[in-house]
Formats: sequence, structure tokens, C-alpha cells
Amino acid sequence: MRIAMVSEHASPLVASNGLGGVDAGGQNVAVRALALALADAGHEVVVHTRRTDPRTPRRVPMAAGVVVDHVDAGPPAELPKDELVDLMDAFSVDLAACWRADRPDVVHAHFWMSGLAALPAARTLGVPIVQTFHALGSVKRRHQGPDDTSPARRVAAESDLGAKVDQVLATCRDEADELAALGVPAEQVTVVPCGVDVEHFTPAGDAAPRGSTSGRDGFRVLSVSRLVPRKGVDTVIAALGRLPGDVELTVAGGPSADRLDDDPEVRRLRALAARTGVADRVTFLGAVAHDALPGLYRGADAVACVPVYEPFGLVPLEAMACGRPVVAAAVGGLADTVVDGVTGHHVPAGDPAAVAAALDALRAHPRRARTFGRAGRRRAVAEYGWDRVAAAHEQAYAGVVASTTVSSGVLTTGSPA
Ligand code: UDP
Repeated sequence: MRIAMVSEHASPLVASNGLGGVDAGGQNVAVRALALALADAGHEVVVHTRRTDPRTPRRVPMAAGVVVDHVDAGPPAELPKDELVDLMDAFSVDLAACWRADRPDVVHAHFWMSGLAALPAARTLGVPIVQTFHALGSVKRRHQGPDDTSPARRVAAESDLGAKVDQVLATCRDEADELAALGVPAEQVTVVPCGVDVEHFTPAGDAAPRGSTSGRDGFRVLSVSRLVPRKGVDTVIAALGRLPGDVELTVAGGPSADRLDDDPEVRRLRALAARTGVADRVTFLGAVAHDALPGLYRGADAVACVPVYEPFGLVPLEAMACGRPVVAAAVGGLADTVVDGVTGHHVPAGDPAAVAAALDALRAHPRRARTFGRAGRRRAVAEYGWDRVAAAHEQAYAGVVASTTVSSGVLTTGSPA
């Protein structure tokens, strides 16, 4: 199949470096991995993303079978994600021209703004379109309230897109429920999760040195995330205050290490650590190259992912693939990926006491923690390897292609004329 993906703000070329910043995270990683896995399965993939640097060539080959196409929409500069919505008409016009010249069999839009650009272009040309939202504005608004900076029309646009595209791929059951609440008909929605690179993230291999700010070699907890308040790093820091002094936390993500001191969220978290009396037990690494993460996971005794909400959450899967037990808030995709009492512990969001209790249980029962880690690895490989996840996408694409050909009346029986 000739597959056109649209990922307006999240370039797959950013996925090996530059992650952990405010707007660069899971979508970059997921689009990259999906494109590579589909190409491995014999498909041709073009990923259309917005040009953010005038020096970037229009088309950049990423791997055999995958090209990244830099679409000109607005100034070729980094812009905050929430400002891109006004550029989507221009993005759409460019996409339509591309697809008229080189017609894909199916379009897959990632994030709502990509859908805004892709849907009119795909409809003009009669190309079927599937949509993955990666995050929903209704959830963001519920949790962030007045701090939600998303464009006002986001929620309405998402329910409209949900009804109009050929298929919505929800990344977890919670998102499917949310889409139903938005009025998207159930038959429009299929749950297709994101995946994890189970060959990159493995239990065996080098582990990061268990360096410790305090000089103790105790129980090492790891957090990996963009440093935005909803990721719940504050909850882990507060939990640390309830745990013995040999429990230490390493925080990966945020700006590069040399810019940590200027980062408002790092400052907020450091102040909390100081107030909680655990400042000497928390280490901020800044953004860590994706390639260096497996070693970091392997060096941890437990990985804590306790966001307030989480559309899918690649980090727990990466931790599981590395054989680490996970303490996860039972929200969004984490409710599907982490199995309570099997691959780690579920805790309520925003509950430092519950996080402390779960971490303490892992610390007190290292054998059980190791068993959780092994079960996590097995689950990651069995359910979330990208080859398997790509096959589920392939099936969804084939479904919309088949129904489009049927409805446009060009389906033949396959028998010779
Ligand atoms: N990540 C990274 N380096 C960092 C912080 C994060 O490579 O310093 C990666 C992480 O490994 C994961 C992604 O960024 O693949 C974050 O994805 P997730 O779905 O957990 O959260 P999102 O950022 O999409 O909210």
C-alpha cells in the first residue's frame, strides 16, 4: 500500500534526539516507529510534517520505503503547537497538490490538527482516511481547566473529525469511551494501541551507572517524561518524602541539562523537593537521547509514571520492555498497558501516599518486583511489538480502502473480465 501519514507538528526525524521538550514526545516516536514497521512490511510510506527550518530539504529519505515530506505552511520556524491551527488550511492545500501528483491509497492523520489539514485534501481526491488523535481536547480541558491553551474550537473539531473520517484509531479503551461521549459513533472507532521497539528496549545490555547524589546505593526510582505539570513528577517527589532515605529519584526529560536551571517546571519541582526535604535524593538529568534510554531504564529498580491523565503513554511500555516493574496511575492508556499486580502497581492519580506505598512494596519484595519486570517484558513483546501493532494498522487501512472501493463502485470480483 502507498500510505500517506500526516503529523503536522511531530516530525519522525526528531524522534531519536530532541525529545522530552514541551512539544516533542510520544507522537514523534510513534509515527517514526509505525512508518518504519509498515515499510518493513513492504509498504511505501510518506510522512508529511510542517517545515520548521528553511534549510531542511522538502523530501528527506528516512529509511528504505519511508520519506519525510516537509510541507510549507507558515514560517519555516519552530512555533508553539497551539499556534499551528491557523496554518492548517495552507497545509491542506499543499497536501492536496502532493496527493494529486502522487495519489496515496490511504491517509493516516495523527493529532487533530493533522486531521483538519488531511480530511479536505483526502476527500477532494477520494482517498480514504483514518485518524489517530493521540490526545483529546475534551480530556485536556477537563484536567487543565483554564490552563488549557488549546484553540477553543479543538473539542468540536475532534468530534466532527471523528464522525467524518473513515475510521478512528483510538489508542486505548479509555479514549474509545471518551470518543463515544463526544458522540462519535461506536462503529467508527477501533482500538489500536501504540507500540514499543522491543529490540531497542530490552532487559539485557548495559545499564546506566547507579550514580547517586547522596552516595547511597539504595532503591532507584526513574521518571521519564516531558516536564509539564500533568506528568505527575511532583507526585513522585512528594511520595519520596514518605519513603526511607535510601530511595532516590532520577528524572529524565525537560530541556537539555545545561538549561535546566532556567526551566520553570524544573524550578517548581526543585522547590517542592526542597520543601519535602528530599532535594538531595532527586536528580534531574534533562532530556536524554532516546538511544540512551534503555540503559537508564535497566539501571532503575522501578519506573514511576503517575500522570494526572495520559492519552497512551509510551514510557511504561518502554520500562516494561526493559523488564522493569512500573508504578502507574490507572489513567488512559496506562490502564490497558500496565496490569495491576502482574507487571507493576496501579495507583490513583495525584496520590503521593499510594505511590509511596506501591514503591515501598516493590522495595520490600525484590523477588516480586523482578517477577513483575519479567511479566512486563513478556507483555510488551506479546502485545505491543511494533510489527504486531503495524499489522493492526495495516488491517484498519485495508478495511477503509476496501469499503471506499465498494462504495465508489469500482470493486471488481477479481475474476478475469
Ligand atoms: N523521551 C526521550 N527522552 C527524554 C524524555 C522522553 O526519549 O528525555 C521519550 C520517551 O522515551 C517516550 C517519549 O519521549 O518515547 C514520551 O512519550 P509518552 O507517550 O510517554 O509521553 P508524551 O511525551 O507523548 O506525552
